[in-house]
Amino acid sequence: MKKQDKQFAVIGLGRFGGSICRELHMLGHEVLAIDHDIVKVEEFVPYSTHAIQGNATEEAFLKSIGIRNFDHVIVAIGEDIQASVLTTLNLKEFGVQTVWAKAQNVYHQKLLDKIGADRVIHPEVDMGMRIAQSMASDHLLDY
Ligand code: ATP
Repeated sequence: MKKQDKQFAVIGLGRFGGSICRELHMLGHEVLAIDHDIVKVEEFVPYSTHAIQGNATEEAFLKSIGIRNFDHVIVAIGEDIQASVLTTLNLKEFGVQTVWAKAQNVYHQKLLDKIGADRVIHPEVDMGMRIAQSMASDHLLDY
């Protein structure tokens, strides 16, 4: 399968979702950028295939953009845990094959796991672990 064949959507264009969207676009993938803030949407027009304004907690909005046709959706809403959980739940109920979601804290992480997110990312914790592993391997290489 060509990488362009895979359809991605990023919901929430903050620092985390925004960097994922830019990178996928730069790598040549189809990526739909979604945010309820029109300023964010306009900012991501050059870094996405399409950029759409909408509230991802609304089922009618998700249906109207045909979200079920996307192979991989990432929910990058952090602060509004209710919105993140509801969006993730709707995506799984609509049958989106792969849903990844960003967690703000361990309680958020537990909820996302419970409702069926295929992968839960806790950026600060995950990055801390990777940095520690990198530090440890540098240390090993020194000896
Ligand atoms: P960052 O990735 O910058 O750390 P964050 O974890 O602080 O972000 P927020 O800033 O709360 O998370 O949300 C990220 C983005 O998601 C914002 O641009 C916000 O406008 C968008 N967003 C929040 N709720 C919704 C929603 N219901 N529908 C669509 N977009 C939303």
